Amino acid sequence: MQINKLTAHQLKDLIRKKEISAEEALTAVYDQIEETEKDIGAYVSLTKEKAFLQAKAVDKKIKNGERVGNLAGIPMAIKDNMCIKDGKTTCSSKILENFVAPYNATVIEKLQAADAVFIGKTNMDEFAMGSSTENSSVKTTKNPCDLTRVPGGSSGGSAAAVAGKEAILAIGSDTGGSIRQPAACCGVVGMKPTYGRVSRYGLVAFASSLDQIGPLTKDVTDSALLLNEISGYDEKDSTSINVSVPDYTRCLTKGVKGLKIGIPREYFIEGMNVEVKSAVEKAIKILEGLGAKTQEVSLPHTEYAVAVYYLIATAEASANLARYDGVKYGYRTDSDGDLLDMYKKTRGEGFGSEVKRRIMLGTYVLSSGYYDAYYLKAQKVRTKIAEDFKNAFNQVDVIITPTAPTTAFKIGEKMADPLQMYLSDIFTISVNLAGIPAISIPCGLTGEGLPIGLQILAPPLQEERILTTAYSYEQKE
Ligand code: GLN
Repeated sequence: MQINKLTAHQLKDLIRKKEISAEEALTAVYDQIEETEKDIGAYVSLTKEKAFLQAKAVDKKIKNGERVGNLAGIPMAIKDNMCIKDGKTTCSSKILENFVAPYNATVIEKLQAADAVFIGKTNMDEFAMGSSTENSSVKTTKNPCDLTRVPGGSSGGSAAAVAGKEAILAIGSDTGGSIRQPAACCGVVGMKPTYGRVSRYGLVAFASSLDQIGPLTKDVTDSALLLNEISGYDEKDSTSINVSVPDYTRCLTKGVKGLKIGIPREYFIEGMNVEVKSAVEKAIKILEGLGAKTQEVSLPHTEYAVAVYYLIATAEASANLARYDGVKYGYRTDSDGDLLDMYKKTRGEGFGSEVKRRIMLGTYVLSSGYYDAYYLKAQKVRTKIAEDFKNAFNQVDVIITPTAPTTAFKIGEKMADPLQMYLSDIFTISVNLAGIPAISIPCGLTGEGLPIGLQILAPPLQEERILTTAYSYEQKE
């Protein structure tokens, strides 16, 4: 048996039954890392020593018959924008290259309480800005399905680690598609929960009204398992929702008989990859075969989503990133000059070009004279987009779309054209603007063998519907 190829739900039982030790599981994952990480480059830092201490502690608990958490001994990867106390948290940015977090993110505390084992931190687009992981200041992660292609982004390292069997589970963050789009590119399952379902405390902020943490896993059951552990109210996050968390693994087998699926007319656009389109249509047929009913719905403001997102996300980013000034955190320039020179040079040298582009855009749209024309207007259209979903969900239970218009593209292909890159998220962005949950699950391969992603959306806090639908499809596919 190749332990690193197991899912978390398989491995967890074997560890509890003492058929595999947590140490063996971790060894299997590190052996894989030893073999393939030089090609894939999923991680920015590995914490091998700490990980083995964690694994041994789990084995000891199990040996002594002590109670262990639901992820006992499961080796997992964490995107490098979440704080682990006393460990580096760089956001794949030069400006944070030596930043050591003084505290744990809430998700980390929860995962520790579940007895998960942390393998290391994964590569990402700098400050989560991007769709290919090429904006990392450290390196470009490669897609394990085809090393000449990007793994998607910004959680490309987390998706590649899971797809490459260099982690059993991973977490990422999703502001406009950063969990779902890399999941689609790498052929894994990626879930963005409802805004407020998972605490953002200790997640380095990109666009605070859009950011959400979620699971990247090999299958839907693992997604439910991991979501169970990371969800829940947190008084340290003022946007956290104070409602109880269901056991997400319970709903999986409920079936889709009678489920009403909406297919948004605006999402089957011209220029979409034909293989993506036919794979999604085939998946819808499978769900119909299982007893679901489909109908067309309309989300009329979809065409504004990308524009609205790049106004709101950049505005929030420009405010959030003001704190990196060479005084409080991370990198400071070596060159001489007065205080203002120091700020300018630190930020000029410390941020990559995409981050600078966004800070400039965001500062512009918030500046007096332009605020009403851009930022305020974008907020109004955001409300319209959220209303579109509300109206659609009055008619249907879930909505199905492709996750992305294309499959994983070639490394370098879109780097010279930011707009082309931004369009990778055309199907994922509205979900963040509306704050609703969505998953991407694999739905077949192209003729070239590249994974295609199917996206399932539901109303706020209805992650269960998504998981039931996804699981039904996964079992049948
Ligand atoms: N690709 C989008 C962007 O570049 C979304 C990123 C994300 O979800 N963090 O902003």
